[in-house]
Amino acid sequence: MKLISIVVPCYNEEESIPSFYKECINVIKKIKNVKYEIIFVNDGSKDNTLNILKKYSKIDSNVKYISFSRNFGKEAAMLAGLKYANGDYITLMDADLQDPPHLLIEMYSKIQKEKVDCVIARRKNRIGEPKIRSFFARKFYTIISKMAKLNIADGERDFRLMTRQLLDSILELNEYNRFFKGLFSYVGYNVEYIEYSNVLRKNGKTKWSFFSLLKYGIEGIVSFSTMPLIISTFIGLIFFIISVIFVIVIFVKTLIYGDPVAGWPSLACIILFSSGIQLLCFGIMGEYLAKLYLETKSRPIYIVKETNINR
Ligand code: UDP
Ligand code: MG
Repeated sequence: MKLISIVVPCYNEEESIPSFYKECINVIKKIKNVKYEIIFVNDGSKDNTLNILKKYSKIDSNVKYISFSRNFGKEAAMLAGLKYANGDYITLMDADLQDPPHLLIEMYSKIQKEKVDCVIARRKNRIGEPKIRSFFARKFYTIISKMAKLNIADGERDFRLMTRQLLDSILELNEYNRFFKGLFSYVGYNVEYIEYSNVLRKNGKTKWSFFSLLKYGIEGIVSFSTMPLIISTFIGLIFFIISVIFVIVIFVKTLIYGDPVAGWPSLACIILFSSGIQLLCFGIMGEYLAKLYLETKSRPIYIVKETNINR
C-alpha cells in the first residue's frame, strides 16, 4: 500500500481548515489502496489555527502538525512540510480549497499509469482575480521563464503530486533563498499538467498584498538569473557610447561656433536621467549582494516550536 503525504501551509486559516479536512478525506477515500498523512504547517498564525490542528490530530492519527515560532512565509512552510513527509507520493495544497483536492484522484492515476514524476495543477484562467494582479502575474512568469530559462507554465500552481525520488532531489538543494516553482523546474524530471478553471477562496482572505507579490517576483528572478546584472552592464555600456558621441559633437561645435553659455536645462535632464539609471543599477547589484549576505549567514529557513511528529 502506497502512502500519500499531503502538505498544507496554513497562515491564519481557522475558517478554512474544517472544510479543507472534510474535502480531503472524501477525496482520499475515493483513491484505492492508499494510506495518507496530512501534514499541516502552522506558519505562525495569530488566530486559532494551531488549536484546530491539534484537535484534528487527536481525532485522526493521520493528521500531523508542525508549528513555527513565527510567520516565516509560505515557501518556508512548504519546505518544512516536505522535509517531514514520509510518503511515496507527496502533494502540496493550499488550505483555502483554491487547489481543488478532487484533482488529486486524476493526478494519482496519471502518476501511476503514465510513469511521470510530477503532475502539476494549472489554472487555465484567472476568473475572479483582480485584473491588475493577473496582468502582472502573467508578465512575471513570461519574464522569469525567458531570463532564467526556467520552465514555469502560466497559471502553474504550487499544487502538485510528486514522487519520492523527485522530492529527494528538491530537498538536496539547500539554498536559503527558495523559490519553489523555480527549484521544481531546475530539477527537471518528467512533468505532466492537468488544467482546471480558477476557484475562488471560500473562507478567510488572501495573505498576499501587491507588494508582497512584487517582492516574491523579484526574489524569484534574482535567485534564478543573473540576467538583470547583464542588462545593467549593457545599459551602462550604451550610456558610455552615447556620452563619447556627445563629447565629440560638443567639441566640434565649440570649435566652429565658439562657446555661448546655453543648454543648462538639457544638461539638468541628462544628469537626472543618468543618475537615475545609476541608482537603478546599484539597486540591482544590491539585490544580489543581499542574497549573498543572507546565504552566507546560513540562518535556518524556519524554526519549529512544536510538532506531533516524531523523527
Ligand atoms: N500561507 C502561509 N504563509 C504565509 C502566507 C500564506 O503558509 O505567510 C499559506 C496560506 O495559509 C494558504 C497558502 O499559503 O494555505 C496560499 O495563501 P493565499 O491563499 O493567501 O494566497 P493566494 O491563493 O491568494 O495566492
Ligand atoms: Mg489562496
